Amino acid sequence: MSKTISILGSTGSIGRQTLEVAEQLGLTVAAITAHNSVELAEEQARKFKPRQVIMTDEAAARDLKVRLADTKTRVHGGVSALSTAATLPGVDTVVTAVVGMVGLKPTLAAIREGKRIALANKETLVCAGELVMDSAARCGAEIVPVDSEHSAIFQCVQGCTDRGEIRRLILTCSGGPFYGMTRAEAGKMTREDALRHPNWKMGPKITVDCATLMNKGLEVIEAMRLYRLPLTRVNVVIHRQSIVHSLVEFRDGALLAQLGTPDMRLPIRYAMTYPQRAETEEEPLDLLRCPPLTFAEPDRRAFPCLRLAEVAAAKGGTACAVLNAANEEAVRLFLEDRIGFQDIFDLTAGALTELPVIHKPCLSDILEADAAARQAVLRNFQSQKE
Ligand code: NDP
Ligand code: MG
Repeated sequence: MSKTISILGSTGSIGRQTLEVAEQLGLTVAAITAHNSVELAEEQARKFKPRQVIMTDEAAARDLKVRLADTKTRVHGGVSALSTAATLPGVDTVVTAVVGMVGLKPTLAAIREGKRIALANKETLVCAGELVMDSAARCGAEIVPVDSEHSAIFQCVQGCTDRGEIRRLILTCSGGPFYGMTRAEAGKMTREDALRHPNWKMGPKITVDCATLMNKGLEVIEAMRLYRLPLTRVNVVIHRQSIVHSLVEFRDGALLAQLGTPDMRLPIRYAMTYPQRAETEEEPLDLLRCPPLTFAEPDRRAFPCLRLAEVAAAKGGTACAVLNAANEEAVRLFLEDRIGFQDIFDLTAGALTELPVIHKPCLSDILEADAAARQAVLRNFQSQKE
């Protein structure tokens, strides 16, 4: 059970819900971080009185320092300061709720200090999952997933001491806002269309990833790393209602699932209280009122990003870091209205084809692959425009 936490990315969708959970559970919030949401960071700092606030944007840090001058909270700026928040003495749990690869270094720093990682930042596991899991095993740091599918699986495997008993994991996928469309129809969808998710309210990057199904592809890799399983044993099914959060099939044919209303506070709370569970007043799922539960095969032709992630997962090595970084850049361009929906796939696939794969990569190989993938996307985007 966590008592004192640091939240990396406290102003985001997961970060804000983590603060709600922290308040309900009476946890001490020792550090929070944001990029440049100064007003919200100030509000959170005044309410939760953390020892530290980190703003990765230096100008935002200067602004916040002035705003919080009358408090005991210390404000620091810059990306490297994320690791300070992640390693703060007295903190037992670090919630990684920043978006993107920027979460990797502070996560590794927290692991080295033996802290529990409540892991929302899936990009970390996608680009460097083997390094992260090996380091966690060496340092005795627990990784407790916050992503709803992986939390469901984590809950289902409690008590399973032999991972060989797991035959396969079945990740459920809502299908996103463009479910049922052909590739050509989805290709015409705009930024606004993509940002309308049917079941979950999330940050813009992951919402776009849900529309392309890249999110599910990233989650397949996340599950492979967390549970050390090959691609063949991690499957995806479309489940439009987002009520069954994922399933585990064991070797005796038993299927275990975790069900609930789509509410990220449940997996966040479990990551804090694990291995215990806390009492809450929220309405649980009412089986007699919930819609019929349906399951279908994903359409990888209409949504090729899922297939692309599976290809990267099969290649292994730095291919997943390339996939992740290229996708981050392409989604950024899409959110800036500079490319179309289909270009996200084209640019990411282009980087994956162009760049060599390094097997058994060390951290610097991964960081180099990440940088090369971003450059490849920008280069191909420029040449597309000319
Ligand atoms: P948001 O976009 O809502 O929040 C992102 C957070 O990270 C904000 O606090 C933001 O600060 C900060 N941030 C943004 N850019 C940077 C940067 N360059 N350096 C440091 N900090 C930065 O994202 P979500 O909360 O939706 O997602 C966070 C992570 O959790 C992602 O990895 C996502 O895949 C994962 N996740 C999210 C789910 C959800 O329901 N939202 C579900 C499952 C997983 P600022 O506000 O100042 O910009
Ligand atoms: Mg998820």
